[in-house]
Amino acid sequence: MADPVQFMSHHTAVEYRVPDPSPLNVYFAEQLAAGRIVGHKCPECGKVYMPPRGYCPLCVVETTAKDEVEVADRGTVTTFCIVNVPFAGQRLDPPYVVAQVLLDGADIPLPHLILGCPADQVRMGLRVAAVWREPERWSTTPENIAHFEPTGEPDAPYESYSEHL
Ligand SMILES: [Zn+2]
Repeated sequence: MADPVQFMSHHTAVEYRVPDPSPLNVYFAEQLAAGRIVGHKCPECGKVYMPPRGYCPLCVVETTAKDEVEVADRGTVTTFCIVNVPFAGQRLDPPYVVAQVLLDGADIPLPHLILGCPADQVRMGLRVAAVWREPERWSTTPENIAHFEPTGEPDAPYESYSEHL
């Protein structure tokens, strides 16, 4: 008699579709298609929500088009992980880095790829800039930015992003 089965290994995939995106989600996506990254600046606390949410949960106030700001396509790596594990459907060969990038002018980081340097050189505080795909390929997705890569600027001081970890 064989030992009882205790483990099974298999791949699964889940595709998320947002069936009814909010007008703000649609607007944010349309702006990405035009090469702009926009957010809403809370009129009370000044935090910039990117993507815009239409409200500040801290101040419990509405934000509207009058609160729109454009944020930079460069910023600071706050946290990151080095992907070392191969998986089905992977588009890059490991190791590579996925990081939270705090864009200049935003208070919410954007998750994205960091390329252009060895994975073991990515660090908290690293200054990076977007590498955009050719405009002919832009659509309503953050993938209009192919990846971020180091700018060569000095690292950002920890205090400048410590509230965003
Ligand atoms: Zn606020």
